[in-house]
Amino acid sequence: MTRRSLWLLSGQNARPVIAPSLLTLAVAIAGCITLTPSLASAQAGTWLRGDLHMHSTHSDGDSPPSAVIDRAVEQGLDFIALTDHDTSMNGSPTHWSDPGYVSDDLILLYGVEWTSGLGHANVWAPEPFDYSAMWEANRAQDADAAIRAAHDQGALFSINHPAAYGCCAWEYDNLEPADAVEVWNGTYRVPGFNGQATHVFWDARLTTGRTPTAVGGSDTHYLGFPQQPFWTIGNPTTWVYASTPNARAILQAIRAGHVSVSYEPDAPRIELSADIDGDGRMDAMMGDAIPGGGRVDFLVRLVDPDNTKTSRRATSARPVNRALVDALAAGRATPLEVYRAALGEKDGSSCNGHLLIVFRSGSPYHAAALPCGSEAYGFHDTPYAGSYYRVEAVGFPDDLKPIQHPLHGTMTAVSNPIYVD
Ligand SMILES: [Zn+2]
Ligand SMILES: [Zn+2]
Repeated sequence: MTRRSLWLLSGQNARPVIAPSLLTLAVAIAGCITLTPSLASAQAGTWLRGDLHMHSTHSDGDSPPSAVIDRAVEQGLDFIALTDHDTSMNGSPTHWSDPGYVSDDLILLYGVEWTSGLGHANVWAPEPFDYSAMWEANRAQDADAAIRAAHDQGALFSINHPAAYGCCAWEYDNLEPADAVEVWNGTYRVPGFNGQATHVFWDARLTTGRTPTAVGGSDTHYLGFPQQPFWTIGNPTTWVYASTPNARAILQAIRAGHVSVSYEPDAPRIELSADIDGDGRMDAMMGDAIPGGGRVDFLVRLVDPDNTKTSRRATSARPVNRALVDALAAGRATPLEVYRAALGEKDGSSCNGHLLIVFRSGSPYHAAALPCGSEAYGFHDTPYAGSYYRVEAVGFPDDLKPIQHPLHGTMTAVSNPIYVD
């Protein structure tokens, strides 16, 4: 299923917000972070945080399902999918019937990691399902048959760590579209090397008209060493905007692209929405499609999920000038250099801020520095049919240990796209 066809885009510069309604909204949000812009086209829902990829002793993990669940609860998650390797279980998902795979605190999905020699993928469903056709497709190394079999069972199929080095990159040229792609596997840089997955693998599909939802997965194998102390369940966290807090609604939200990914459960959640008629009400959110050809006001929010940064003060976001965006796109400037250049000497913040980078159809198109205390930024454009807009938040986290920096880098959050019909 594709939402759109590929169009070649001519360059058009973004401009900072001048719409009074949106500017008012952004300022209001900076001072009142509980305000949620209305989404006229979206159903009422709630943001839930989870982890879609982890292993137990039913495959090559170090801990039983009950301990995996305990760690996820400690991390403050709302849902998980335990995705043991099908190869370790000879095609029979024994972990689903483990007496420890139950929880009063978490919504549990029923997942398996489809583990073939040419690539891995997660299959998730709201309840146990017949895995036999997927196992047969695994033995035949037939990704298209596996995707069809997953859909026949009402399950989603998500390509895992597609750009991993050494082991387990996605080498299929599947014609059946996958529902999702794991753009962030464990730590952002290692072991999945998913900087490449985001920009090379995912954007490469998006620019050819496919619309797989970006998700994250910790791929936790070890609750202890050697994975600790570097990352655990919830690194990264996948946020879904579900109509109701249950497994079926979570999977519907993933299918719809109402998802963003953050580096940990307490990290800011990125939200991208669009107002297509200038009334100050948001008409579309991530995963939705909007019409091209007219002015659209976009709003990016970086929401503190636990509202813990009580010392925040209202501080204005600053758009980055075109030369700096071009330098960023060409690799001549790092995000940190761009952030500092955009703020000049005026950043007296007591905590660290973020650089928002807007990608239009795969290329950096616009950017803004959000100093600490700034949570919303708006811009407008006249989108072309076939384009898409997505946002990355590059941060300079307060709470990463020095030993974690080489693994995590500075990626804080990734949005899903808003598509243009
Ligand atoms: Zn894998
Ligand atoms: Zn895995």
